[in-house]
Amino acid sequence: MKPVSTAEPSTEPKLERAAGGQQPASGAASLPVVTGRDADSQPAEDELQGALAADPPLAPTEEFLAELADHSQRLETACPQQILAWAVERFAPKFSMATAFGPEGMTIIHMLSEIAPETPIFNLETGYQFKETLQLREAVKQRYGIEVEFKYPQQTVQQYEAANGGPVYKTDPNRCCFDRKLRVLKEAARGLHAWASAIRRDQSEDRAKAPIVGWDKKFQLVKISPLANWTKKEVWSLISKHEIPYNPLHDQGYPSVGCWPCTRANSLGEDERAGRWSGFQKTECGLHD
Ligand code: SF4
Repeated sequence: MKPVSTAEPSTEPKLERAAGGQQPASGAASLPVVTGRDADSQPAEDELQGALAADPPLAPTEEFLAELADHSQRLETACPQQILAWAVERFAPKFSMATAFGPEGMTIIHMLSEIAPETPIFNLETGYQFKETLQLREAVKQRYGIEVEFKYPQQTVQQYEAANGGPVYKTDPNRCCFDRKLRVLKEAARGLHAWASAIRRDQSEDRAKAPIVGWDKKFQLVKISPLANWTKKEVWSLISKHEIPYNPLHDQGYPSVGCWPCTRANSLGEDERAGRWSGFQKTECGLHD
């Protein structure tokens, strides 16, 4: 896969800036990493393996998974700020967050601004996001001084649709999400050990069993969900109390906002995520299932 382009290609990557600004966590040296990769490969593969050898991903050993399960259990009664503080201490500077600027994501950004504002945060800019969503990047910068990095797919929307005979979201949203979100996140995950997710257990059946701390097989990262035990009401109370910026579309009947082609306003009494991929069986973009 070719490298994913970023918003500021000529500047130093945000992750590296953050790495220089934080001390490694005390437990970081003992984290299990993948070693012993085959060096006998093609040049491009060599380059990738070289990068992996210099910055290997974590290895989900039995011992490590058991440790994560213990932490998850212990953190069940912790507040989101305590969970985030633990994640930062354990995994920074290889701890990051992907956000779609939803109310939960904005809540976590607010908390991180007080706990560890140097945490790198990125948004998967599919090219199909609402302008209201994109404007939140500037709102976050203004309010917290945090620059959320846009991560882009290889092809622009125009190139992608031209190459596929039209919008892929109309016929195969799974593939569209794979190409424009999952691939990008996989690339962005390189060099990381852990990421924060903004999911809540009461959002949907799919999310009901999310652990506070777990192993994300798909992205080979530790996944931390500080808001897993929070309710929608708690999220909005915090937003209201601290006047945290949020997407104005939430006031126009969109409880969950994704890409504009795959998001509609909800009707009264519908599931919070009913307006996403309406007309398809799909309920998740693939990042959290
Ligand atoms: S949410 Fe829709 S437009 Fe966005 S990446 Fe997925 S299928 Fe494509």
